[in-house]
Amino acid sequence: MNVSSARELLAIDGGTPLRTDPFPARQPFTEECVELVTDAVRSGDLFGMGGRYVGRFETEYAEFYGARHAISVSSGTAAVHVALAAYDPEPGSEVITAPITDAGTIVPILAAGCVPVFADVDSSYAMDPASIESKITDRTVAIVVVHLFGGASDVRLIREIADRHGIALIEDCSQAHATRLDGRYVGMFGHVGAFSLQQSKHLTTGDGGMAITDDPELAERMLLFRDKGWIRTRYGSRSYDGFGMNYRMTELQAAVGIPQLRTLDSVVRRRRDFAIRANSHFADVPGVSAFVPIEGCEASYWTYPFEVDNGDIHRFASALAEEGIPTMPGFHNDPIYLSMSALRDQKTFGSSSYPFVEPFHEPVSYAPGLCPAAEAALSRLIVFWLNEDMTERDADSVGLAVAKVARGLTA
Ligand SMILES: *Cc1c(COP(=O)(O)O)cnc(C)c1O
Repeated sequence: MNVSSARELLAIDGGTPLRTDPFPARQPFTEECVELVTDAVRSGDLFGMGGRYVGRFETEYAEFYGARHAISVSSGTAAVHVALAAYDPEPGSEVITAPITDAGTIVPILAAGCVPVFADVDSSYAMDPASIESKITDRTVAIVVVHLFGGASDVRLIREIADRHGIALIEDCSQAHATRLDGRYVGMFGHVGAFSLQQSKHLTTGDGGMAITDDPELAERMLLFRDKGWIRTRYGSRSYDGFGMNYRMTELQAAVGIPQLRTLDSVVRRRRDFAIRANSHFADVPGVSAFVPIEGCEASYWTYPFEVDNGDIHRFASALAEEGIPTMPGFHNDPIYLSMSALRDQKTFGSSSYPFVEPFHEPVSYAPGLCPAAEAALSRLIVFWLNEDMTERDADSVGLAVAKVARGLTA
């Protein structure tokens, strides 16, 4: 009997669970990380400016991506903020961005006094270039594109659109470390690539961020903005140029980040192998669909997403949990414009609703229906939190359980 095609009794209906042991936890920090961070602590000076590790981390990070400059910051949110702030947008300027993302993409847009404008996604959760172009107005200063789940938005086309309209392209690569598009890393297609180094990301310093660019002027403005505008080359009385934050990285973060640059490509390869293997188990099973990255993309799988075609994701996820596979139905449940009160209720700075008010901008409404494809996609989405320390057996149990549940629930 071909077991994999038979309809087995689901664990949720009293059958035998597919798996009973837990999945392995991730261990991103090697002995070398411990040695470097110990060395940093022993030095008695953890300040990053002029320190031994932050400068080296920036240099090696830039080398990894083939960028001329890498500017370390304290978070992915800070990386997007320094990138946007480098353009010094007028209050009320518009920034086109993604409906499915972390608040870390949106908060910097609001902090920069800009109005987020949402473009819809395509079937790969990628931002739809046509939707982006249709949202451009004479007030658009930038596109902050998001590469979701380790896939890629089509920044080949989106860069062309940005150039045609003379606007900036910032890539939020927080979920897409070492993701390739036509063999090139995402983050290098736009003017700035912004990365989060938060604990869940492919390369992590617990919290942290990095902004990469080839443009020396942008790099200079980002350096100033992350350091309160401090012109550190000038001695004597302190001189601050413009407005800025303190988004500096410390030696502790850089020390644990450096060794991971050497393993990042293999981390990504192992995550991709997991996804390909898990997907293979339900390729012919009706009712579930694997995540398909856009043409030319080698995804880095920040998460392992898949779709339940009939949208019954809560029932599906409960059945998977009974099989021993923990997942997250709906991922974000709602698109970001409905899940942040700063957008939905425009609760921003005191009671001002700035920047969604005259004379900065006319009123804006963020309501259901704004990005129909994104809303529909979220209603079918389930994610499993894979990591690079999981084995082929782990990939098999996820893929087989998805197949078993899909068959069992339609039986
Ligand atoms: C994680 C993440 C961020 C925010 O990063 P932090 O380091 O938590 O500030 C921003 N954008 C996306 C798409 C993310 O996944």
